[in-house]
Amino acid sequence: MAENKENKKDGGFNFPPVSGGKTMKPLKFNGYWLYILLAAFIIGYQFLDTQSNPVRTTWQEAKTKMLEKGDVDEISVIKNKGQANIYLKADRIENYSQLKAKGFKRSSKGPHFFFTTPPVESFSDELKNIQESIPEAADTKVDYTDEYDGWGNIVSFLFPIALLVFIWMFFFRRMTKGAGGPGGVFNVGKSQAKLFDKDTHIKITFKDVAGLAEAKQEVEEIVSFLKSPDKYTKLGGKIPKGALLVGPPGTGKTLMAKAMAGEANVPFFSMSGSDFVEMFVGVGASRVRDLFKQAKEKAPCIIFIDEIDAIGRARGKNPNMGSNDERENTLNQLLTEMDGFETNSGVIILAATNRADILDSALLRAGRFDRQIYVDLPELKDREEIFKVHLKPLKLAEDVDIPFLAKQTPGFSGADIANVANEAALIAARKDKNEVEKQDFLDAIDRIVGGLENRSKVIKVGEKKAIAYHEAGHATVSWLLEHAHPLLKVTIVPRGKALGAAWYLPQERQITTKEQLLDQMCSVLGGRAAEELTFGQISTGAQNDLEKATKQAYAMVSIFGMSEKIGNLSYYDSTGQSDFSFTKPYSEKTAELIDSEVKALVENSYSRAKELLKTHQEQHKQVAELLLEREVIFSDDLERILGKRPWKEEEETEPQEAEENQTEQPEEQ
Ligand code: ATP
Repeated sequence: MAENKENKKDGGFNFPPVSGGKTMKPLKFNGYWLYILLAAFIIGYQFLDTQSNPVRTTWQEAKTKMLEKGDVDEISVIKNKGQANIYLKADRIENYSQLKAKGFKRSSKGPHFFFTTPPVESFSDELKNIQESIPEAADTKVDYTDEYDGWGNIVSFLFPIALLVFIWMFFFRRMTKGAGGPGGVFNVGKSQAKLFDKDTHIKITFKDVAGLAEAKQEVEEIVSFLKSPDKYTKLGGKIPKGALLVGPPGTGKTLMAKAMAGEANVPFFSMSGSDFVEMFVGVGASRVRDLFKQAKEKAPCIIFIDEIDAIGRARGKNPNMGSNDERENTLNQLLTEMDGFETNSGVIILAATNRADILDSALLRAGRFDRQIYVDLPELKDREEIFKVHLKPLKLAEDVDIPFLAKQTPGFSGADIANVANEAALIAARKDKNEVEKQDFLDAIDRIVGGLENRSKVIKVGEKKAIAYHEAGHATVSWLLEHAHPLLKVTIVPRGKALGAAWYLPQERQITTKEQLLDQMCSVLGGRAAEELTFGQISTGAQNDLEKATKQAYAMVSIFGMSEKIGNLSYYDSTGQSDFSFTKPYSEKTAELIDSEVKALVENSYSRAKELLKTHQEQHKQVAELLLEREVIFSDDLERILGKRPWKEEEETEPQEAEENQTEQPEEQ
């Protein structure tokens, strides 16, 4: 034993491990080996065939050195190849050194030489003459044939075909694999759903889904339907067939479904709407059939279809114009399976989309997706909860205040918040910190809202001045308006595509009044007004502001019915069914009126902004100069220059109703 240990210490001689220490895997036989063997055979055949190759010579040489000496036993002319083979008499073979060198012996049968013949007619005449005139050549047998090289011909005929078949199979396999089917072309119509059941461990539970109390409750209820159906059916009720999770991107719809798969003790089929789509006709419908067949076998179970709008879009009214037959067939099959002749009790369908407005109404009716669960952008309280989930794995400094962070992120989705947490950790790591601090979170929020800081951008002095006065214009006007969003900070450090920005903290309103919209529009136009008043000229820097103001004005006039001349009319179609790009729902006259009302709204707001800046010209200048000096100024600085704002923030009531939440971007130049 001791000897053994000693050996190991010394590193005594060992065989080196095969292939870098990895053990060799036994070779497996698969289809590719066939192709390799075929190729090896073809190549080998070419080499093996050289065994008794005759020596090349010329007709002239054959004539003078062989035929006329009486050495030739037979000349075999292969007409179709234009070649003649020479068979020597056995006792003459050894007279030829070339043959000896090639290993020919007395017993070698031949052909021993070959040459390319002149045209067969002249050659046979010449040969005849020689045989008649020279006695030694008289007994040489002459034979004329056509020769077909059996194997060689077959191989040269089959090889291109085999190659084509190989290439075709190779691409076909890859295509069908790419379509998700490991089973090749014959499985293309099979459902591509992933099955999660008791044996597949999904770690996500409802605890990982923060906020979304109502949505969570509904989904939890579906799980409980499946676990104890009697509780619901004993009073005569029916278990719902499906639920549709609807909401903006990143609000946690897929996460909720994953949690459901993790919690429900029933099989869970998960797939995406686009998994039904394939280049082959009829595959989508066949996949739907197969999915339901599998699900019925495993009932009670849940089917989850993510991004259902890929197949569930409203069917076209005119079958010849722009309709997509394959998608419609798939949808029809889905409709039939969900509420058709066949019963599929115990199969609950959960789907997610952020475009419920474009879904076919037949899909949404009761009996199919009985329930629509709205997963909205999170409110303040929900954001706090989401922050708590995503901050758990981070090492936080003491100054990190979750309610404060939630307040700083209105309009952020769950995915955005997850991104803020991750980005803050990365920023802190870049600065070699041991903990993630509050400032890292604020930097992360700025980065997500405004893009990456770009301090190296070359900006001329004159341009910088224009940017500062423009941003100071936004800040001053919004400070002086009651309903403009509260200002956080103003910066002239370029970020993303913007050269400067005024950052606001949008109020989370459920409804917005006309006055609030007008004040917002006025502050948006404050930048351009400041440029005109200060420099007497305007620039392209206000393009983004003008676009925003115009869109808002059009919405006020044609959607919210906020123009007196147009009246209480809304030309918006929330069903998404009508196509207004071809026909407008109003006359030419109304269109002109809408345009003039929009123009008037924007003009009035612009004049208001100019008025405000004129009356506070000195303060505006101070704000701009401070901005030029410091590059970033905060609301405290504005309060110092412009005085405290006299308006108070409205108090919130509990509980809140979750409704339209408006996301605001910083006013960019
Ligand atoms: P899309 O409609 O674009 O598919 P989605 O609504 O399905 O978006 P998810 O994929 O579920 O969004 O969410 C993306 C990520 O955002 C999640 O992986 C999670 O990290 C985070 N997230 C979203 N909502 C929540 C939430 N309520 N609680 C915790 N994390 C959340």
